[in-house]
Amino acid sequence: MTHFAWIGLGNMGAPMAGNLVKAGHTVTGFDLSEKAVQTAVEHGVTAAGSVAEAVQDADVVITMLPKGEHVREVYTQDGGVFASARQGTLLMDSSTVDIETSQWCHDEAPKHGYRFVDSPVSGGISGAAAGTLAFMIGGEEKDVAEAMEHVKPMAGNVFNAGGATAGIAAKIANNMMLFIAQMACSEGSQLAKHLGLDPKTFWEIASASSGRSWPQQTWYPVAGIIDSAAANNDFEATFRADLAIKDVSLALAAGEKAGLHLEAATLACEQLNRLADEGLGDKDCSLVVKYVTPGRTQEEI
Ligand code: NAD
Repeated sequence: MTHFAWIGLGNMGAPMAGNLVKAGHTVTGFDLSEKAVQTAVEHGVTAAGSVAEAVQDADVVITMLPKGEHVREVYTQDGGVFASARQGTLLMDSSTVDIETSQWCHDEAPKHGYRFVDSPVSGGISGAAAGTLAFMIGGEEKDVAEAMEHVKPMAGNVFNAGGATAGIAAKIANNMMLFIAQMACSEGSQLAKHLGLDPKTFWEIASASSGRSWPQQTWYPVAGIIDSAAANNDFEATFRADLAIKDVSLALAAGEKAGLHLEAATLACEQLNRLADEGLGDKDCSLVVKYVTPGRTQEEI
């Protein structure tokens, strides 16, 4: 049995921590939100009153926070992880953060007497609940091997991505591909309709052909074709547009630093930002489909 501390018990964190509890581990958790803590307690997590209290007896500290700035804050604040966890503790950050923050964690953790791996995830809220997330882990070989064991109760697939920041690099590149592929679904679905194809028939043809992709299978932006699509539910979010903007922006920042021309990702980001500018940042990212058919209502898409 391992004693985990969990900081950030939101949509992802609470069910993930719950799967560790189900596997027989102890999880002491902290979140700024009372409601998040309450949900985590229902998943079997023991509530702590502060970061310090959560981490003080832990063997492993996992953070699942919105952005890089929150991870840096939780590590360095008064009573934070660096001030309160036991020396030698393995720190794992599963948040989706910028490469610089992840590298900062790899640099700073050893200076304070800790080990660190970046351990982001793919698979969404449903994967968090089902314990089928894909983990991509980066760091020192020995620490990655240890982390791979720890995440098993939460994972369907676990990858040793490579050295420091390799996990977060894989996550950012993967999600960039996702949102570009989603744009292909927007345009392909509307063109097929415009050409007079039955939407379901076209979806079946694409599924068996070269238009197949993860968003085509999961987020197809036409109502009544696949159960998991937000299009069935007035584009209520299964993956919020503003979270997608964060992910694509991280990719664009990394690409710019590397001198790459990420033109498709730039366009995907522009469309997602248009949703946010229209006050639709909390809607599903697949609502970008509306830009293919200007003038039509959501119901007509
Ligand atoms: P969320 O907003 O539901 O949860 C984040 C939690 O962190 C919130 O409960 C918030 O109160 C808490 N928090 C913020 N600052 C804190 C602090 N200083 N101390 C303690 N708690 C603090 O977000 P989420 O959907 O659970 O996502 C978490 C991370 O996982 C993000 O980086 C996200 O990009 C990534 N991610 C999300 C998904 C998804 O489908 N939602 C999938 C893969 C990865």
